[in-house]
Amino acid sequence: MVSIEVLESSPSKIRIRLKGIDRAYANAIRRVAISQVPTMAIDDVVILENSSVMFDELVSHRMGLIPLKTDLDRFNLPEDCDCKNALGCSKCRVLLVLDAEASDRIRTVTSGDLISEDPESKPVSDNIPIVKLAPGQKIKLEAYARLGKGSEHAKWQPTSASVLLETAKPDEFELYIESVGSLSAPEIFTRAIQRIQQSLTEISAQIKV
Ligand SMILES: [Zn+2]
Repeated sequence: MVSIEVLESSPSKIRIRLKGIDRAYANAIRRVAISQVPTMAIDDVVILENSSVMFDELVSHRMGLIPLKTDLDRFNLPEDCDCKNALGCSKCRVLLVLDAEASDRIRTVTSGDLISEDPESKPVSDNIPIVKLAPGQKIKLEAYARLGKGSEHAKWQPTSASVLLETAKPDEFELYIESVGSLSAPEIFTRAIQRIQQSLTEISAQIKV
């Protein structure tokens, strides 16, 4: 019989003992947690002004790597959204705006300077550096965030660690999941289980012809 025991649980990490489970199944949870549980990340950036020393492409790349708070009940993956619109809608896209200028001293523009149209979909921390501006330099851009999966690009991975540890018994493992902050660690675990269930349901539906 399969049983689980939560050894440690907080928004940032969870440690679970899985008993009576085959290694392949336990490893499936670990892998799905990394690559199939969606999170929100910036995917499209329109640079309106950039007089910093950093190229537009580099600024855009850094924007993509900022973890954003994610509410999976309110947003759809673009491919699943009923808007079927390449530009997206309020259920599959969030706009964040950055408008910063250095006046008389050097200024470090951080994730906290980003203003999101959706107060819940914002950077997990305000202290992530984006670019340094010298006096007189300016940066102004629009960034569009959407849900995506780690299998598409690492910036959508919800985990900073997802590890399966051996124990003394062959059918017992410890799963350790650490979150980047977009989703809580317990939610990553439960969403991974739901994703596996969904895949199995889809497979059995195809067999039942
Ligand atoms: Zn949509």
